[in-house]
Amino acid sequence: MKRAERGQSPPAGEVTSSQSTDVAATSAGPAWDYAPAPESREIVTIAGEYGLFVDGEFGPAADRRQFPTINPATEETLAHVALASPADVDRAVAAARHAYSRVWGPMPGAERAKYLYRIARVLQERAREFAVLESLDNGKPIRESRDVDIPLAAAHFFYYAGWADKLEYAGLGGNGRAGEVSADSRADGADGGGGAGRGRAPRPLGVAGQVIPWNFPLLMAAWKLAPALATGNTCVLKPAETTPLTALLLAEVCQQAGLPPGVVNVLTGAGETGASLVSHPGVDKIAFTGSTEVGKEISRTVAGTGKKLTLELGGKAANVVFDDAPVDQAVEGIVNGIFFNQGHVCCAGSRLLVQESVADIVVERLRDRLATLRLGDPLDKNTDIGAINSREQLDKISALAAAGEAEGAQRWSPPCRLPDRGFWFPPTIFTGVSQSYRIAREEIFGPVLSVLTFRTPEEAVAKANNTPYGLSAGVWTEKGSRILWMAQRLRAGVVWANTYNRFDPASPFGGYRESGFGREGGRQGLAGYLDA
Ligand code: NDP
Repeated sequence: MKRAERGQSPPAGEVTSSQSTDVAATSAGPAWDYAPAPESREIVTIAGEYGLFVDGEFGPAADRRQFPTINPATEETLAHVALASPADVDRAVAAARHAYSRVWGPMPGAERAKYLYRIARVLQERAREFAVLESLDNGKPIRESRDVDIPLAAAHFFYYAGWADKLEYAGLGGNGRAGEVSADSRADGADGGGGAGRGRAPRPLGVAGQVIPWNFPLLMAAWKLAPALATGNTCVLKPAETTPLTALLLAEVCQQAGLPPGVVNVLTGAGETGASLVSHPGVDKIAFTGSTEVGKEISRTVAGTGKKLTLELGGKAANVVFDDAPVDQAVEGIVNGIFFNQGHVCCAGSRLLVQESVADIVVERLRDRLATLRLGDPLDKNTDIGAINSREQLDKISALAAAGEAEGAQRWSPPCRLPDRGFWFPPTIFTGVSQSYRIAREEIFGPVLSVLTFRTPEEAVAKANNTPYGLSAGVWTEKGSRILWMAQRLRAGVVWANTYNRFDPASPFGGYRESGFGREGGRQGLAGYLDA
Protein backbone atom coordinates (compact mmCIF):
# COMPACT_ATOMS: atom_id res chain seq x y z
CA MET A 1 0.00 0.00 0.00
CA LYS A 2 1.18 3.47 -0.86
CA ARG A 3 0.48 4.89 2.60
CA ALA A 4 2.66 2.35 4.31
CA GLU A 5 5.44 3.05 1.82
CA ARG A 6 5.49 6.74 2.62
CA GLY A 7 8.38 7.88 4.76
CA GLN A 8 7.91 10.66 7.27
CA SER A 9 11.06 12.60 6.45
CA PRO A 10 10.59 15.89 4.62
CA PRO A 11 11.02 15.65 0.86
CA ALA A 12 14.08 17.06 -0.74
CA GLY A 13 13.31 20.46 -2.28
CA GLU A 14 14.48 20.32 -5.86
CA VAL A 15 15.66 23.89 -6.17
CA THR A 16 15.69 25.31 -2.70
CA SER A 17 18.65 26.68 -0.93
CA SER A 18 16.58 28.07 1.95
CA GLN A 19 13.50 26.23 3.08
CA SER A 20 10.62 27.90 4.84
CA THR A 21 9.21 26.59 8.08
CA ASP A 22 5.55 26.61 7.15
CA VAL A 23 3.35 25.59 4.30
CA ALA A 24 2.57 29.15 3.28
CA ALA A 25 5.88 29.50 1.49
CA THR A 26 5.65 31.21 -1.86
CA SER A 27 7.78 31.62 -4.90
CA ALA A 28 10.16 34.53 -4.61
CA GLY A 29 8.28 37.08 -6.65
CA PRO A 30 8.14 40.85 -6.71
CA ALA A 31 9.29 43.01 -3.78
CA TRP A 32 5.75 43.31 -2.46
CA ASP A 33 3.82 40.21 -1.48
CA TYR A 34 0.29 39.04 -0.88
CA ALA A 35 -1.07 38.76 2.65
CA PRO A 36 -2.11 35.18 3.44
CA ALA A 37 -5.77 34.55 2.59
CA PRO A 38 -6.47 31.15 4.13
CA GLU A 39 -9.85 29.52 3.65
CA SER A 40 -11.13 28.35 7.03
CA ARG A 41 -11.25 24.59 7.54
CA GLU A 42 -13.89 25.04 10.25
CA ILE A 43 -16.63 24.34 7.72
CA VAL A 44 -15.56 20.69 7.50
CA THR A 45 -15.96 18.17 10.28
CA ILE A 46 -13.60 15.30 9.64
CA ALA A 47 -14.44 12.18 11.64
CA GLY A 48 -11.61 10.14 13.12
CA GLU A 49 -12.84 7.04 11.31
CA TYR A 50 -14.92 6.36 8.22
CA GLY A 51 -16.76 3.20 7.25
CA LEU A 52 -17.79 1.79 3.88
CA PHE A 53 -21.07 3.00 2.38
CA VAL A 54 -23.08 -0.10 1.51
CA ASP A 55 -26.86 -0.45 1.09
CA GLY A 56 -27.44 3.09 2.32
CA GLU A 57 -25.49 2.72 5.59
CA PHE A 58 -21.96 3.43 6.75
CA GLY A 59 -20.24 0.51 8.47
CA PRO A 60 -16.83 -1.06 9.08
CA ALA A 61 -15.12 -3.46 6.68
CA ALA A 62 -15.89 -7.14 7.29
CA ASP A 63 -12.40 -7.71 8.70
CA ARG A 64 -12.33 -4.23 10.33
CA ARG A 65 -9.13 -3.24 8.54
CA GLN A 66 -8.43 0.45 7.98
CA PHE A 67 -5.87 2.71 6.34
CA PRO A 68 -4.93 6.34 7.04
CA THR A 69 -5.59 9.18 4.66
CA ILE A 70 -3.26 12.13 4.97
CA ASN A 71 -3.00 15.77 3.99
CA PRO A 72 -0.19 15.77 1.40
CA ALA A 73 0.64 19.41 2.18
CA THR A 74 1.50 18.65 5.83
CA GLU A 75 1.65 14.81 6.10
CA GLU A 76 -0.94 15.13 8.93
CA THR A 77 -3.27 12.12 9.21
CA LEU A 78 -6.78 13.33 8.48
CA ALA A 79 -8.72 10.14 9.22
CA HIS A 80 -8.68 6.36 9.21
CA VAL A 81 -10.80 4.81 6.50
CA ALA A 82 -12.19 1.28 6.12
CA LEU A 83 -10.26 -1.01 3.78
CA ALA A 84 -12.78 -3.04 1.78
CA SER A 85 -12.07 -6.76 1.37
CA PRO A 86 -13.53 -9.15 -1.23
CA ALA A 87 -16.34 -9.94 1.28
CA ASP A 88 -17.28 -6.25 1.30
CA VAL A 89 -17.22 -6.18 -2.50
CA ASP A 90 -19.66 -9.14 -2.46
CA ARG A 91 -21.97 -7.31 -0.09
CA ALA A 92 -21.88 -4.04 -2.06
CA VAL A 93 -22.50 -5.77 -5.40
CA ALA A 94 -25.43 -7.70 -3.87
CA ALA A 95 -26.92 -4.46 -2.50
CA ALA A 96 -26.49 -2.77 -5.90
CA ARG A 97 -28.12 -5.75 -7.69
CA HIS A 98 -31.07 -5.74 -5.30
CA ALA A 99 -31.56 -1.98 -5.71
CA TYR A 100 -31.28 -2.33 -9.49
CA SER A 101 -33.89 -5.04 -9.87
CA ARG A 102 -36.34 -3.84 -7.20
CA VAL A 103 -36.14 -0.06 -7.19
CA TRP A 104 -33.87 1.82 -9.56
CA GLY A 105 -34.17 -0.20 -12.78
CA PRO A 106 -38.00 -0.15 -12.85
CA MET A 107 -38.22 3.49 -11.70
CA PRO A 108 -39.38 5.92 -14.44
CA GLY A 109 -36.65 8.25 -15.67
CA ALA A 110 -38.52 11.35 -14.53
CA GLU A 111 -38.40 9.99 -10.95
CA ARG A 112 -34.70 9.11 -11.17
CA ALA A 113 -34.06 12.66 -12.38
CA LYS A 114 -35.51 14.10 -9.18
CA TYR A 115 -32.85 12.34 -7.11
CA LEU A 116 -30.07 13.54 -9.42
CA TYR A 117 -31.32 17.13 -9.23
CA ARG A 118 -31.43 16.84 -5.44
CA ILE A 119 -27.85 15.57 -5.30
CA ALA A 120 -26.75 18.44 -7.58
CA ARG A 121 -28.46 21.02 -5.41
CA VAL A 122 -27.04 19.63 -2.16
CA LEU A 123 -23.57 19.66 -3.77
CA GLN A 124 -24.05 23.34 -4.52
CA GLU A 125 -25.31 24.06 -1.02
CA ARG A 126 -22.35 22.26 0.56
CA ALA A 127 -19.83 23.42 -2.07
CA ARG A 128 -17.46 25.17 0.35
CA GLU A 129 -17.36 22.14 2.62
CA PHE A 130 -16.52 19.89 -0.36
CA ALA A 131 -13.90 22.34 -1.67
CA VAL A 132 -12.04 22.53 1.64
CA LEU A 133 -12.17 18.77 2.16
CA GLU A 134 -10.92 18.15 -1.40
CA SER A 135 -7.98 20.50 -0.94
CA LEU A 136 -7.11 18.94 2.42
CA ASP A 137 -7.14 15.35 1.15
CA ASN A 138 -5.73 15.96 -2.33
CA GLY A 139 -3.39 18.96 -1.95
CA LYS A 140 -4.90 20.97 -4.80
CA PRO A 141 -5.31 24.76 -4.41
CA ILE A 142 -8.63 25.84 -2.92
CA ARG A 143 -9.11 28.19 -5.87
CA GLU A 144 -9.27 25.16 -8.15
CA SER A 145 -11.42 22.92 -5.95
CA ARG A 146 -13.77 25.87 -5.28
CA ASP A 147 -13.99 27.19 -8.86
CA VAL A 148 -13.52 24.06 -10.97
CA ASP A 149 -13.89 20.67 -9.28
CA ILE A 150 -17.00 21.22 -7.18
CA PRO A 151 -19.06 23.38 -9.59
CA LEU A 152 -18.29 20.96 -12.43
CA ALA A 153 -19.28 17.97 -10.28
CA ALA A 154 -22.65 19.61 -9.52
CA ALA A 155 -23.02 20.53 -13.21
CA HIS A 156 -22.60 16.88 -14.19
CA PHE A 157 -25.46 15.82 -11.92
CA PHE A 158 -27.66 18.65 -13.27
CA TYR A 159 -26.80 17.77 -16.87
CA TYR A 160 -27.49 14.04 -16.60
CA ALA A 161 -30.63 14.62 -14.53
CA GLY A 162 -31.93 16.29 -17.68
CA TRP A 163 -31.31 13.17 -19.74
CA ALA A 164 -32.91 10.66 -17.36
CA ASP A 165 -36.42 10.94 -18.83
CA LYS A 166 -35.32 11.56 -22.42
CA LEU A 167 -33.25 8.49 -23.18
CA GLU A 168 -35.44 7.47 -26.10
CA TYR A 169 -34.45 10.76 -27.79
CA ALA A 170 -30.70 10.22 -27.35
CA GLY A 171 -30.37 8.54 -30.73
CA LEU A 172 -28.86 5.45 -29.17
CA GLY A 173 -31.56 3.09 -30.34
CA GLY A 174 -33.62 0.78 -28.21
CA ASN A 175 -33.36 -2.89 -27.58
CA GLY A 176 -36.80 -3.69 -26.24
CA ARG A 177 -38.58 -6.66 -27.81
CA ALA A 178 -41.49 -5.94 -30.15
CA GLY A 179 -44.46 -4.71 -28.18
CA GLU A 180 -42.34 -4.12 -25.05
CA VAL A 181 -42.65 -0.70 -23.52
CA SER A 182 -39.96 0.84 -21.34
CA ALA A 183 -40.65 1.97 -17.80
CA ASP A 184 -40.09 5.55 -18.95
CA SER A 185 -42.57 5.25 -21.77
CA ARG A 186 -45.16 3.63 -19.49
CA ALA A 187 -44.79 6.44 -17.00
CA ASP A 188 -45.55 9.21 -19.46
CA GLY A 189 -48.18 7.31 -21.41
CA ALA A 190 -46.01 6.98 -24.52
CA ASP A 191 -46.21 4.06 -26.90
CA GLY A 192 -42.47 3.67 -27.07
CA GLY A 193 -42.28 4.40 -30.78
CA GLY A 194 -44.80 7.01 -31.69
CA GLY A 195 -43.62 10.62 -31.62
CA ALA A 196 -41.20 12.23 -34.01
CA GLY A 197 -37.62 11.30 -33.17
CA ARG A 198 -38.76 8.99 -30.40
CA GLY A 199 -37.54 5.43 -30.11
CA ARG A 200 -37.82 2.86 -27.38
CA ALA A 201 -35.62 3.82 -24.42
CA PRO A 202 -32.48 1.70 -24.46
CA ARG A 203 -32.02 -0.46 -21.39
CA PRO A 204 -29.54 0.05 -18.55
CA LEU A 205 -26.82 -2.55 -18.07
CA GLY A 206 -27.37 -3.34 -14.38
CA VAL A 207 -24.60 -2.94 -11.79
CA ALA A 208 -21.68 -0.65 -12.66
CA GLY A 209 -18.29 -1.07 -10.95
CA GLN A 210 -16.43 2.24 -11.09
CA VAL A 211 -12.78 2.80 -10.18
CA ILE A 212 -11.48 6.37 -10.04
CA PRO A 213 -8.10 8.12 -9.51
CA TRP A 214 -6.86 10.73 -7.06
CA ASN A 215 -6.36 13.76 -9.31
CA PHE A 216 -10.00 14.97 -9.38
CA PRO A 217 -11.61 12.82 -6.68
CA LEU A 218 -15.12 14.30 -6.47
CA LEU A 219 -15.28 15.30 -10.13
CA MET A 220 -14.36 11.80 -11.30
CA ALA A 221 -16.99 10.35 -8.96
CA ALA A 222 -19.55 12.69 -10.57
CA TRP A 223 -18.39 11.79 -14.10
CA LYS A 224 -18.97 8.14 -13.26
CA LEU A 225 -22.09 8.22 -11.08
CA ALA A 226 -24.25 10.83 -12.85
CA PRO A 227 -24.60 9.12 -16.27
CA ALA A 228 -24.83 5.65 -14.68
CA LEU A 229 -27.69 6.70 -12.40
CA ALA A 230 -29.49 8.73 -15.08
CA THR A 231 -29.60 5.66 -17.31
CA GLY A 232 -30.98 3.41 -14.55
CA ASN A 233 -27.87 1.53 -13.41
CA THR A 234 -26.78 1.11 -9.81
CA CYS A 235 -23.17 1.69 -8.75
CA VAL A 236 -20.29 0.43 -6.65
CA LEU A 237 -17.63 3.16 -6.62
CA LYS A 238 -14.00 2.64 -5.55
CA PRO A 239 -12.22 5.96 -4.91
CA ALA A 240 -8.42 6.19 -4.92
CA GLU A 241 -6.63 5.15 -1.77
CA THR A 242 -5.06 8.58 -1.24
CA THR A 243 -8.27 10.61 -1.71
CA PRO A 244 -11.31 8.82 -0.25
CA LEU A 245 -12.89 11.63 1.78
CA THR A 246 -15.00 13.56 -0.74
CA ALA A 247 -16.44 10.32 -2.14
CA LEU A 248 -17.56 9.47 1.40
CA LEU A 249 -19.06 12.95 1.82
CA LEU A 250 -20.85 12.40 -1.49
CA ALA A 251 -22.25 9.17 -0.03
CA GLU A 252 -23.61 11.26 2.84
CA VAL A 253 -25.18 13.58 0.25
CA CYS A 254 -26.87 10.54 -1.33
CA GLN A 255 -28.38 9.76 2.06
CA GLN A 256 -29.42 13.40 2.44
CA ALA A 257 -31.07 13.32 -0.99
CA GLY A 258 -33.06 10.24 0.05
CA LEU A 259 -31.49 8.04 -2.63
CA PRO A 260 -32.83 4.48 -2.14
CA PRO A 261 -30.37 2.18 -0.32
CA GLY A 262 -27.99 0.24 -2.56
CA VAL A 263 -28.26 2.55 -5.58
CA VAL A 264 -24.83 4.04 -4.79
CA ASN A 265 -22.26 2.13 -2.75
CA VAL A 266 -18.78 3.46 -1.93
CA LEU A 267 -15.97 1.03 -1.15
CA THR A 268 -12.77 2.64 0.04
CA GLY A 269 -9.59 0.63 -0.26
CA ALA A 270 -6.47 0.03 -2.28
CA GLY A 271 -5.72 -1.39 -5.72
CA GLU A 272 -6.71 -4.89 -4.53
CA THR A 273 -10.21 -3.61 -3.71
CA GLY A 274 -10.45 -2.21 -7.24
CA ALA A 275 -9.20 -5.50 -8.67
CA SER A 276 -11.78 -7.56 -6.80
CA LEU A 277 -14.55 -5.21 -7.93
CA VAL A 278 -13.39 -5.46 -11.56
CA SER A 279 -13.32 -9.27 -11.46
CA HIS A 280 -16.61 -9.68 -9.57
CA PRO A 281 -19.05 -11.79 -11.60
CA GLY A 282 -22.04 -9.76 -10.39
CA VAL A 283 -20.88 -6.58 -12.12
CA ASP A 284 -22.19 -5.78 -15.64
CA LYS A 285 -20.10 -2.73 -16.48
CA ILE A 286 -16.63 -1.50 -15.53
CA ALA A 287 -15.69 2.18 -15.85
CA PHE A 288 -12.09 3.02 -15.02
CA THR A 289 -10.01 6.20 -15.00
CA GLY A 290 -6.34 5.92 -14.13
CA SER A 291 -3.01 4.75 -15.45
CA THR A 292 -2.61 2.99 -18.79
CA GLU A 293 -0.81 0.15 -17.04
CA VAL A 294 -3.75 -0.64 -14.73
CA GLY A 295 -6.17 -0.03 -17.61
CA LYS A 296 -4.46 -2.77 -19.62
CA GLU A 297 -4.64 -5.14 -16.65
CA ILE A 298 -8.37 -4.41 -16.32
CA SER A 299 -8.87 -5.06 -20.05
CA ARG A 300 -7.29 -8.48 -19.63
CA THR A 301 -9.48 -9.29 -16.61
CA VAL A 302 -12.68 -8.20 -18.32
CA ALA A 303 -11.96 -9.81 -21.72
CA GLY A 304 -14.45 -12.57 -22.53
CA THR A 305 -16.70 -11.92 -19.53
CA GLY A 306 -19.36 -9.95 -21.43
CA LYS A 307 -18.91 -6.95 -19.14
CA LYS A 308 -19.06 -3.61 -20.88
CA LEU A 309 -15.86 -1.58 -20.38
CA THR A 310 -14.82 2.05 -20.72
CA LEU A 311 -11.25 3.18 -20.01
CA GLU A 312 -10.01 6.74 -19.58
CA LEU A 313 -6.24 6.45 -19.29
CA GLY A 314 -3.08 8.52 -19.58
CA GLY A 315 -1.90 11.11 -22.06
CA LYS A 316 1.09 13.10 -23.30
CA ALA A 317 -0.65 15.95 -25.03
CA ALA A 318 0.98 18.41 -27.41
CA ASN A 319 0.15 22.09 -26.96
CA VAL A 320 1.09 23.59 -30.34
CA VAL A 321 1.91 27.31 -30.57
CA PHE A 322 2.24 28.88 -34.04
CA ASP A 323 4.13 32.09 -34.75
CA ASP A 324 0.91 34.04 -35.39
CA ALA A 325 -0.56 33.25 -31.95
CA PRO A 326 -0.94 36.12 -29.48
CA VAL A 327 2.03 35.36 -27.24
CA ASP A 328 0.66 36.48 -23.87
CA GLN A 329 -2.60 34.60 -24.39
CA ALA A 330 -0.69 31.50 -25.47
CA VAL A 331 1.54 31.72 -22.41
CA GLU A 332 -1.53 31.76 -20.15
CA GLY A 333 -2.80 28.70 -22.01
CA ILE A 334 0.52 26.90 -21.65
CA VAL A 335 0.56 27.61 -17.90
CA ASN A 336 -3.04 26.48 -17.51
CA GLY A 337 -2.30 23.43 -19.67
CA ILE A 338 0.51 22.03 -17.56
CA PHE A 339 0.47 23.69 -14.11
CA PHE A 340 -3.27 23.45 -13.39
CA ASN A 341 -3.75 20.88 -10.60
CA GLN A 342 0.08 20.50 -10.32
CA GLY A 343 0.01 18.81 -13.73
CA HIS A 344 -1.93 15.87 -12.26
CA VAL A 345 -4.20 15.93 -15.29
CA CYS A 346 -4.53 13.15 -17.85
CA CYS A 347 -5.06 15.68 -20.66
CA ALA A 348 -2.31 18.07 -19.46
CA GLY A 349 -0.43 19.90 -22.19
CA SER A 350 2.87 18.38 -21.09
CA ARG A 351 4.65 18.79 -24.44
CA LEU A 352 4.89 22.35 -25.68
CA LEU A 353 5.49 22.43 -29.44
CA VAL A 354 6.42 25.97 -30.35
CA GLN A 355 7.26 27.30 -33.81
CA GLU A 356 10.99 27.90 -34.04
CA SER A 357 10.72 31.58 -35.05
CA VAL A 358 8.94 32.49 -31.79
CA ALA A 359 10.44 29.87 -29.46
CA ASP A 360 12.81 32.26 -27.68
CA ILE A 361 10.19 34.90 -26.94
CA VAL A 362 7.60 32.32 -25.84
CA VAL A 363 10.04 30.61 -23.46
CA GLU A 364 11.19 33.96 -22.09
CA ARG A 365 7.62 35.13 -21.39
CA LEU A 366 6.82 31.72 -19.93
CA ARG A 367 9.71 32.04 -17.47
CA ASP A 368 8.54 35.52 -16.47
CA ARG A 369 5.05 34.17 -15.89
CA LEU A 370 6.26 31.17 -13.87
CA ALA A 371 8.17 33.50 -11.56
CA THR A 372 4.82 34.95 -10.48
CA LEU A 373 3.20 31.61 -9.61
CA ARG A 374 2.70 31.07 -5.91
CA LEU A 375 3.41 27.64 -4.49
CA GLY A 376 2.29 26.72 -0.99
CA ASP A 377 -0.64 26.18 1.34
CA PRO A 378 -3.47 24.68 -0.74
CA LEU A 379 -6.02 26.39 1.51
CA ASP A 380 -4.59 29.85 0.76
CA LYS A 381 -6.78 31.53 -1.85
CA ASN A 382 -3.68 33.07 -3.49
CA THR A 383 -2.00 29.72 -4.12
CA ASP A 384 -1.47 28.61 -7.72
CA ILE A 385 0.51 25.41 -7.18
CA GLY A 386 -0.46 23.08 -4.36
CA ALA A 387 1.06 19.87 -3.03
CA ILE A 388 1.89 16.73 -4.98
CA ASN A 389 -0.68 14.12 -3.99
CA SER A 390 1.63 11.47 -2.52
CA ARG A 391 5.23 10.62 -1.78
CA GLU A 392 5.02 7.92 -4.45
CA GLN A 393 3.95 10.44 -7.09
CA LEU A 394 6.64 12.92 -5.98
CA ASP A 395 9.26 10.19 -6.38
CA LYS A 396 7.99 9.41 -9.86
CA ILE A 397 8.10 13.06 -10.95
CA SER A 398 11.57 13.52 -9.43
CA ALA A 399 12.90 10.41 -11.20
CA LEU A 400 11.57 11.50 -14.60
CA ALA A 401 12.94 15.04 -14.14
CA ALA A 402 16.34 13.57 -13.27
CA ALA A 403 16.14 11.42 -16.42
CA GLY A 404 15.47 14.58 -18.48
CA GLU A 405 18.65 16.18 -17.18
CA ALA A 406 20.67 13.01 -17.65
CA GLU A 407 19.51 12.75 -21.27
CA GLY A 408 20.72 16.28 -21.97
CA ALA A 409 17.73 18.64 -21.64
CA GLN A 410 18.13 21.98 -19.84
CA ARG A 411 16.10 22.22 -16.66
CA TRP A 412 14.73 25.48 -15.27
CA SER A 413 12.48 26.40 -12.34
CA PRO A 414 11.75 29.85 -10.91
CA PRO A 415 13.35 30.72 -7.55
CA CYS A 416 11.04 28.87 -5.23
CA ARG A 417 11.03 27.95 -1.56
CA LEU A 418 9.42 24.61 -0.80
CA PRO A 419 7.72 23.94 2.54
CA ASP A 420 9.58 21.64 4.94
CA ARG A 421 6.83 19.11 5.30
CA GLY A 422 4.57 17.58 2.72
CA PHE A 423 5.18 16.69 -0.91
CA TRP A 424 6.22 19.52 -3.22
CA PHE A 425 7.69 19.98 -6.67
CA PRO A 426 8.43 23.37 -8.24
CA PRO A 427 7.03 24.33 -11.65
CA THR A 428 9.68 23.12 -14.08
CA ILE A 429 10.49 23.65 -17.76
CA PHE A 430 12.82 21.55 -19.87
CA THR A 431 14.20 23.06 -23.08
CA GLY A 432 16.42 21.37 -25.62
CA VAL A 433 14.21 18.28 -25.49
CA SER A 434 14.41 15.59 -28.18
CA GLN A 435 11.46 13.41 -29.04
CA SER A 436 13.34 10.34 -27.86
CA TYR A 437 13.79 11.61 -24.28
CA ARG A 438 11.69 9.97 -21.58
CA ILE A 439 10.29 13.38 -20.57
CA ALA A 440 8.90 13.73 -24.10
CA ARG A 441 7.42 10.24 -24.21
CA GLU A 442 6.23 9.25 -20.71
CA GLU A 443 3.36 10.67 -18.70
CA ILE A 444 5.01 12.58 -15.84
CA PHE A 445 1.73 13.64 -14.18
CA GLY A 446 3.38 16.57 -12.46
CA PRO A 447 4.24 20.27 -13.00
CA VAL A 448 6.89 19.57 -15.63
CA LEU A 449 6.80 20.93 -19.18
CA SER A 450 8.95 19.64 -22.06
CA VAL A 451 9.57 22.24 -24.79
CA LEU A 452 10.16 21.12 -28.38
CA THR A 453 10.22 23.20 -31.56
CA PHE A 454 8.95 22.82 -35.13
CA ARG A 455 9.26 24.75 -38.41
CA THR A 456 6.21 23.78 -40.50
CA PRO A 457 2.62 22.76 -39.70
CA GLU A 458 3.36 19.29 -41.12
CA GLU A 459 6.26 18.89 -38.70
CA ALA A 460 4.04 20.05 -35.82
CA VAL A 461 1.46 17.38 -36.67
CA ALA A 462 4.10 14.67 -37.03
CA LYS A 463 5.66 15.52 -33.67
CA ALA A 464 2.31 15.96 -31.89
CA ASN A 465 1.17 12.54 -33.09
CA ASN A 466 4.46 10.87 -32.19
CA THR A 467 3.08 9.31 -29.01
CA PRO A 468 1.25 6.11 -28.16
CA TYR A 469 -1.42 8.21 -26.43
CA GLY A 470 -4.34 10.03 -28.04
CA LEU A 471 -6.28 11.98 -25.44
CA SER A 472 -5.96 15.72 -26.07
CA ALA A 473 -4.10 18.51 -27.85
CA GLY A 474 -4.06 22.31 -28.04
CA VAL A 475 -3.56 24.66 -31.00
CA TRP A 476 -2.69 28.36 -30.74
CA THR A 477 -3.02 30.43 -33.90
CA GLU A 478 -5.07 33.34 -35.14
CA LYS A 479 -6.04 31.49 -38.34
CA GLY A 480 -9.33 29.62 -38.17
CA SER A 481 -8.43 27.58 -41.24
CA ARG A 482 -5.24 26.40 -39.59
CA ILE A 483 -7.16 25.34 -36.49
CA LEU A 484 -9.42 23.14 -38.63
CA TRP A 485 -6.46 21.82 -40.64
CA MET A 486 -4.70 20.84 -37.42
CA ALA A 487 -7.80 19.41 -35.75
CA GLN A 488 -8.34 17.07 -38.69
CA ARG A 489 -4.80 15.72 -38.41
CA LEU A 490 -4.14 15.58 -34.67
CA ARG A 491 -4.84 12.11 -33.33
CA ALA A 492 -6.48 13.15 -30.08
CA GLY A 493 -9.94 12.73 -28.59
CA VAL A 494 -10.13 16.44 -27.68
CA VAL A 495 -8.49 19.36 -29.49
CA TRP A 496 -8.69 22.77 -27.82
CA ALA A 497 -8.19 25.86 -29.98
CA ASN A 498 -6.80 29.02 -28.36
CA THR A 499 -7.73 27.65 -24.95
CA TYR A 500 -6.85 24.62 -22.84
CA ASN A 501 -8.33 22.40 -20.12
CA ARG A 502 -11.90 23.54 -20.75
CA PHE A 503 -14.54 21.11 -19.52
CA ASP A 504 -18.29 21.08 -19.81
CA PRO A 505 -20.71 18.30 -18.91
CA ALA A 506 -22.35 18.61 -22.33
CA SER A 507 -19.06 17.96 -24.13
CA PRO A 508 -17.80 14.38 -24.58
CA PHE A 509 -14.30 13.59 -23.32
CA GLY A 510 -12.12 10.56 -23.95
CA GLY A 511 -9.28 9.21 -26.02
CA TYR A 512 -8.12 6.37 -28.15
CA ARG A 513 -5.01 4.23 -28.59
CA GLU A 514 -3.24 4.01 -25.18
CA SER A 515 -5.50 6.72 -23.76
CA GLY A 516 -8.42 4.31 -23.65
CA PHE A 517 -11.85 4.16 -25.25
CA GLY A 518 -15.40 5.28 -24.59
CA ARG A 519 -16.60 8.81 -23.91
CA GLU A 520 -17.64 10.54 -20.71
CA GLY A 521 -19.82 13.62 -20.75
CA GLY A 522 -22.44 14.72 -23.22
CA ARG A 523 -24.99 12.55 -24.97
CA GLN A 524 -22.13 10.21 -25.92
CA GLY A 525 -21.51 9.58 -22.20
CA LEU A 526 -24.87 7.82 -21.96
CA ALA A 527 -23.83 5.08 -24.38
CA GLY A 528 -21.35 3.47 -22.00
CA TYR A 529 -24.16 2.75 -19.53
CA LEU A 530 -26.83 1.51 -21.93
CA ASP A 531 -27.35 -1.70 -23.82
CA ALA A 532 -27.40 0.34 -26.99
P1 NDP B 1 -3.72 3.80 -10.82
O1 NDP B 1 -4.10 3.59 -12.22
O2 NDP B 1 -2.97 2.74 -10.13
O3 NDP B 1 -5.00 4.10 -9.92
C1 NDP B 1 -6.28 4.48 -10.39
C2 NDP B 1 -7.34 3.75 -9.57
O4 NDP B 1 -7.29 2.34 -9.84
C3 NDP B 1 -7.19 3.88 -8.08
O5 NDP B 1 -8.46 3.88 -7.48
C4 NDP B 1 -6.43 2.61 -7.74
O6 NDP B 1 -6.53 2.26 -6.40
C5 NDP B 1 -7.11 1.61 -8.63
N1 NDP B 1 -6.33 0.41 -8.93
C6 NDP B 1 -5.00 0.20 -8.81
N2 NDP B 1 -4.67 -1.03 -9.23
C7 NDP B 1 -5.81 -1.62 -9.64
C8 NDP B 1 -6.14 -2.90 -10.20
N3 NDP B 1 -5.21 -3.80 -10.43
N4 NDP B 1 -7.42 -3.17 -10.51
C9 NDP B 1 -8.38 -2.24 -10.31
N5 NDP B 1 -8.15 -1.03 -9.78
C10 NDP B 1 -6.88 -0.70 -9.45
O7 NDP B 1 -2.94 5.16 -10.72
P2 NDP B 1 -1.90 5.56 -9.57
O8 NDP B 1 -2.66 6.28 -8.55
O9 NDP B 1 -1.09 4.42 -9.08
O10 NDP B 1 -0.95 6.53 -10.38
C11 NDP B 1 0.11 5.97 -11.16
C12 NDP B 1 0.31 6.76 -12.41
O11 NDP B 1 -0.85 6.68 -13.21
C13 NDP B 1 0.49 8.25 -12.18
O12 NDP B 1 1.81 8.55 -11.94
C14 NDP B 1 -0.01 8.83 -13.46
O13 NDP B 1 1.01 8.86 -14.40
C15 NDP B 1 -1.07 7.87 -13.90
N6 NDP B 1 -2.44 8.32 -13.60
C16 NDP B 1 -3.19 8.73 -14.63
C17 NDP B 1 -4.47 9.18 -14.40
C18 NDP B 1 -5.30 9.63 -15.53
O14 NDP B 1 -6.39 10.17 -15.32
N7 NDP B 1 -4.85 9.46 -16.74
C19 NDP B 1 -5.05 9.26 -13.07
C20 NDP B 1 -4.18 8.74 -12.03
C21 NDP B 1 -2.94 8.31 -12.33
P3 NDP B 1 -5.40 2.83 -5.38
O15 NDP B 1 -5.54 4.30 -5.34
O16 NDP B 1 -5.75 2.22 -4.11
O17 NDP B 1 -4.08 2.37 -5.93
